Amino acid sequence: MTTLQPVRGTHDLLPSEQRKHFLILETARSQAASYGFMEISTPILEFKEVFKRTLGDVSDIVTKEMYEIADRGDEEIVLRPEGTAGIARAVISNGLTQSMPLKFFYTGPMFRYERPQKGRMRQLHQIGVEMFGVADPVADVEVISLAYEILVALKMGHRVTLEINSLGDDESRQNFRTHLVTYLKDHHQHLSPDSQQRFDRNPLRILDTKDEGDKKILNGAPLLEDCLNAYSKETFLKVQEGLKDLKIPFKINPHLVRGLDYYSHVAFEFTTTDLGTQGTVLAGGRYDGLMSTMGGPAIPGVGWAGGIDRLAMMLTNEVCPPLKRPLAVIPMDEAFDMKGLEFAQLLRKAGHYVEMTYGAGLGKRLKKASKINARYAMILGEEEVSSQKVTVKDLDTGDQIQLSRQDVIVFLKEKGVS
Ligand code: ATP
Ligand code: MG
Repeated sequence: MTTLQPVRGTHDLLPSEQRKHFLILETARSQAASYGFMEISTPILEFKEVFKRTLGDVSDIVTKEMYEIADRGDEEIVLRPEGTAGIARAVISNGLTQSMPLKFFYTGPMFRYERPQKGRMRQLHQIGVEMFGVADPVADVEVISLAYEILVALKMGHRVTLEINSLGDDESRQNFRTHLVTYLKDHHQHLSPDSQQRFDRNPLRILDTKDEGDKKILNGAPLLEDCLNAYSKETFLKVQEGLKDLKIPFKINPHLVRGLDYYSHVAFEFTTTDLGTQGTVLAGGRYDGLMSTMGGPAIPGVGWAGGIDRLAMMLTNEVCPPLKRPLAVIPMDEAFDMKGLEFAQLLRKAGHYVEMTYGAGLGKRLKKASKINARYAMILGEEEVSSQKVTVKDLDTGDQIQLSRQDVIVFLKEKGVS
């Protein structure tokens, strides 16, 4: 029955998968905190306008990928497809534009109506950062280095390539646009229908095409880098110098453009060959035009978003260690279950990971304890309950010893069990 399946493009994160997501999130969160990026959380529901204006009317996300909600009123509401526009909206809504710079870290689910495949889902999960209020390219270097440090902490530093490019400022892009349009005019009838539509509305978008035919045509197109003005060239060089100073390896990719309208100057992507076609794990850039497009003051910004789902696919056991072994509390008879639970609480308060066992009979409960790979069994029978003691059984050696409750804590400490 279809209703018992998850919605196409969505996944249940079962505990083993959820644990990977959590690990990535905790690593990113603590690195971000060490850079002074404070966590922010904005709603999953936003007005459509928030994305329509900022991502661009002809971006893939706005034209094809956005989930619109059947709101009961007349409002056009969507499930957020990405984080940046909502955060920029929050900065304006909350009147935070006076206190620059602002540095945010965020995480959460995003929704895009895409064709599901490996590494591409309709509910995806991202981590990301935004820095508002600093136009200097040093800020670009700082946010890229934060991304890099997170990947290094996840032991992926050597498995990703940082690719960078400059989209230049408005003047440079206008200049490039003229050259590009002149070139593409001659190839117009061979472009994909999507790109033909972009040609009329926003030709720069064509550079972000995924169509092979378009890509061939683009091979002969003029390059953005040849159209950069002096300021754009200088900023791009500063970013490169900064990355070199911090010893962050990178490659210039003159074909790299980002899918969204709000980018300017430096755009970057961390890619991997480990995941097949969906090889971009983290991507971002500078978006100096975003705030003003939204109707706020002209505040520059730079940031990135990383795909947790794709990062989780790359995570190795080295970073995701096996769970620590529990202690199993085993009342010999159901009559002692509550005594067992009380003792379990005592052990938990002392910092231990404790599993209570349930069901009939000592034998069955002991079997359960070894099935969950418990380190020690804490057995409570009639004798133990009346003498306030516990039988501690080493489940690796089979040795057992009777101890008072307090001595159990000391015993575990001596054995190095935490
Ligand atoms: P792509 O070119 O793969 O469609 P994008 O440019 O749309 O990526 P961004 O909007 O920059 O992606 O999102 C940042 C990151 O989020 C991507 O690098 C990727 O790791 C992840 N991501 C984006 N879309 C998806 C998706 N549908 N499923 C899983 N992860 C995704
Ligand atoms: Mg996409």
